[in-house]
Amino acid sequence: MRIGVDVGGTTVKIGIVDDHKIIDYYSIKTNKDTLFDDIYNSINEYVNKNNISIDGIGFGLPGSVSNNYIKALPNVGLYDIDLNKIHNKYFSNIKLYSTNDANCAALGEHINNPKYHSSYLLTLGTGVGGGYVYNDKLVLGATNNCGEVGHMFIGSDFNFKCTCGLTNCLETIASATGITRLYKLYSKNDIAISAKEVFDKARLNDSIAIKVIDIVSKALAHALANIAVTCDVDIFYLAGGVSMAGDILLNNVRKYYKEFAHYGVVNTPIEISSLKEKAGMLGCAYLW
Ligand SMILES: [Zn+2]
Repeated sequence: MRIGVDVGGTTVKIGIVDDHKIIDYYSIKTNKDTLFDDIYNSINEYVNKNNISIDGIGFGLPGSVSNNYIKALPNVGLYDIDLNKIHNKYFSNIKLYSTNDANCAALGEHINNPKYHSSYLLTLGTGVGGGYVYNDKLVLGATNNCGEVGHMFIGSDFNFKCTCGLTNCLETIASATGITRLYKLYSKNDIAISAKEVFDKARLNDSIAIKVIDIVSKALAHALANIAVTCDVDIFYLAGGVSMAGDILLNNVRKYYKEFAHYGVVNTPIEISSLKEKAGMLGCAYLW
């Protein structure tokens, strides 16, 4: 069996995976000070209690990681961690793999839909991430940055500064943060509002919310049209909290994609991830 560990800012989801399916899973709290020991202790306990043998552990991490060395997990507040060292303390005889969480979600959703052999998944959460699967293999790229489409340049009138230092990145618009910011901008009011509330308002015909969703949908459709002519995938998936908005977002993105995409790729399907928050666990378990 395989273990897939999807580390999030508030919870860690741990999946027990076999034959391309999650057969069991549980979650633990993300506790910054004891995070990886908590994870390994819980896996140890699970393995012993259920008397299973495991082949390897894969991690999906909300940050940058290379060769199991974690450079930064900004949402958790952890930096410079050698995961190999911690892993060997607990399971020196089994495999360890890790990559960022969006890559894991992309691979998980891909595995769950085996009729497609290439796919691109965008995670729309606090930020925007992505992952590219080609010929059933995750593409990491020369510097492990393939899929970082949250930082794709989207020309806009806003010139929003991104957390990465650039301006007009996709995630300044098409993330939960971006949606909230746009709503505040157009309502000229510094009210506390979540992305979900903006979608709820749009369903009630709030004109500002509808405008915001139009802007977000256009930005996403532009990004997908750009990705389509570089990767020409079988299918696009939208995942993450913002994708839970469902049809109100999806129908608009599809509409604008038809307008913006080159005729050769105009029919690429766009779907909401069916595995939703479980995709990451499945993908983590197939990093090897
Ligand atoms: Zn950026």
